[in-house]
Amino acid sequence: MNRILFQGITILPMTRPQDRVERGDILVEGDRISYIGPSKEWEGDFQVFDGEGKVALPGFVNAHTHLAMVFLRGFADDMTLDRWLREKIWPMEARLKAEHVYRFSLLGAAELISSGVTTFADMYFHMDQVARAVEETGLRASLSTGMIAQGNPFPGEVLKRGTNFALTFRGKAGGRITTMLAPHAPYTCPPDFMKKVREIALKENLPVHTHISETRKEVDDCLAEYGLTPPELLDQAGLFDCLVLAAHCVVLEDQDFPILKKLKGVAHCPVSNLKLASGVAPVKKMVDSGVNVALGTDGASSNNRLELLQEIKTASLLAKGVNFDPLALPAFQTLQMATLGGAKALCLEDQIGTLEVGKKADIVVFDFNSPHLQPCFDHYSHLVYSALPSDVHSVMVDGTWLLRERKYQTLDFEEVKEEALKATKEIVEE
Ligand SMILES: [Zn+2]
Repeated sequence: MNRILFQGITILPMTRPQDRVERGDILVEGDRISYIGPSKEWEGDFQVFDGEGKVALPGFVNAHTHLAMVFLRGFADDMTLDRWLREKIWPMEARLKAEHVYRFSLLGAAELISSGVTTFADMYFHMDQVARAVEETGLRASLSTGMIAQGNPFPGEVLKRGTNFALTFRGKAGGRITTMLAPHAPYTCPPDFMKKVREIALKENLPVHTHISETRKEVDDCLAEYGLTPPELLDQAGLFDCLVLAAHCVVLEDQDFPILKKLKGVAHCPVSNLKLASGVAPVKKMVDSGVNVALGTDGASSNNRLELLQEIKTASLLAKGVNFDPLALPAFQTLQMATLGGAKALCLEDQIGTLEVGKKADIVVFDFNSPHLQPCFDHYSHLVYSALPSDVHSVMVDGTWLLRERKYQTLDFEEVKEEALKATKEIVEE
């Protein structure tokens, strides 16, 4: 069994602000944390990690993305959502083959790992290929096949495919893969379909991943058709009897807040929402109403990055700005959204999200020696307002190094990059 000792490191367990340990030790045995606390004398055989000038915290959870979409990063920007999807994104996605999704998932995985994201929630297609990339790179993920029933003559088949994937891949990669059912959104999956999803989710004990109230148009159309907001519509269909992760929730009415409290979490994707001009989600009001808010990037075609530091800072600044309240989303609370909030949203809070004895050793180590991190009065403040993804020094999942001193341990980046660019060329020049 591997035994790794982080020695003399600043530890932010992300349980409570005051639980920070200034110079402490973390012992990892196998895939779990077996000691966390003040530095002490150790005897035995360990791989020692010198924590001088370093800060350890739980790996970030990207609670909503479409990993393989990295191939469309910067392909089409500065467009309306409707034209962007119809003219640029969907035609290119239609050319994707399974092998492409694998290549792009590896590229996405490299980006996640190098920026301290250890877990992600993904909704896409050819998900067996995303699972393959997760297996090989050592990441943790909650995977789901996006299901669109609207316009499909065989919605039963769509549901079957989504369910088969979820049941086949649940628990794979040594338990690092969990799965969900993913009805794409209320405007692409009518209430009848949602009711069927609910039935299977409850029977098979599968969580549900969906998009809710991303744009004003979506909400207006839903009100016009059903006389209900999207959260009300899904609530009435019984979907929230399941464990639900909902991305976006940008355009909300007053009656939506108590409904969203029933969810496992909302994945707030501030950068994607800003770039597509969907608006700003009322995060402060959600948090004040008791909704668990996590952070996600959405796909790299609308962000255009998959790392979370940008999301963390943007979420905090936006909440302050739109509420004219500098106290909104303080540093610790925002950082907690990217860790424990994400873990809860993915139903993984028993395993990850905080650094505690008995939990999985999913750890990100930041190097605090860069000029933009001097001086340091408050580590939480620096991580939210100053740190860059390039400050990530080392990353571990399940007690295994994925990044060590900024070097990939589970992938060959030059090869991953080359293969992904080759695949991109195939698709774009087809
Ligand atoms: Zn999305």
